[in-house]
Amino acid sequence: MQQFTFMVIRLNSGLLRKPWGCQVMARPSSDLAAFREIFSKAKNIAIITGAGVSAESGVPTFRGAGGYWRKWQAQELATPEAFSRNPSRVWEFYHYRREVMITKNPNQAHLAIAGCEERLAKQGRKVTVITQNIDELHRGAGSKNVLELHGSLFKTRCMSCGHEAANHRRPICAALAGKGAPSPDTHDAEIPVEQLPRCEQTGCRGLLRPAVVWFGETLDSDILTSAEQVLDSCDLCLVVGTSSVVYPAAMFAPQVAARRVPVAEFNMEHTPATMNFKFHFHGPCGTTLPPALARHESEQL
Ligand SMILES: [Zn+2]
Repeated sequence: MQQFTFMVIRLNSGLLRKPWGCQVMARPSSDLAAFREIFSKAKNIAIITGAGVSAESGVPTFRGAGGYWRKWQAQELATPEAFSRNPSRVWEFYHYRREVMITKNPNQAHLAIAGCEERLAKQGRKVTVITQNIDELHRGAGSKNVLELHGSLFKTRCMSCGHEAANHRRPICAALAGKGAPSPDTHDAEIPVEQLPRCEQTGCRGLLRPAVVWFGETLDSDILTSAEQVLDSCDLCLVVGTSSVVYPAAMFAPQVAARRVPVAEFNMEHTPATMNFKFHFHGPCGTTLPPALARHESEQL
């Protein structure tokens, strides 16, 4: 019903060039030259990235088929309830996720995005990454303008004083050294809560938790506001490693498309045909993104 209303508004405002039925059936274009033409003129590019970008670096998500840590999937451990019930087990899970990142590297998609940001910055043009990924691979690739909707594996927040801090220590605390093995027959380490990561603010010593957004929690309002500002001002939007009809892009891409700003998807998924999104490039984003974001012949610097 909502979509129907949207289409009627578009019809009444005379924005559609093709007959209604034709437009609805139209598939997004995969014309790279046409995308490059728009890209070459864009001054403010928003790049929304999802799990697919991390998956191409081999980062486990512990979701979906086969996605288990011991007997559990992320949605069973990444909750405030799981942490209050068993902070040792949840910390083992996150300790493992932090340690596994040592063996993972940014892929060609991360590098293409970071390279594009750096190059365009010299031309007075801006690239902002809005990501749901918590692995910091965008930063690892060199991206500076990154909005992490779900926080980071490498940040902690104090349960007592609320202090947030970057934390790349290995192990994050002595008691977690060698713990966190993922195989289903591993027993819980049952680390006493005093030996789990603790706050180092003067006089606090509160229990730290990973500064990530867990299931059932709301997004950080400052980050959300920043993301809204980027999306309200961008003149090109890329949706990478996720579909524009799936979170997180589904939250944002429609508002961009409603301003008639081009949205281009780069993913492995078969996207529902929609008149809202202009381009779709199918395949691993490590393959499709580098040629799309490479230097355009019109770039001076
Ligand atoms: Zn504290």
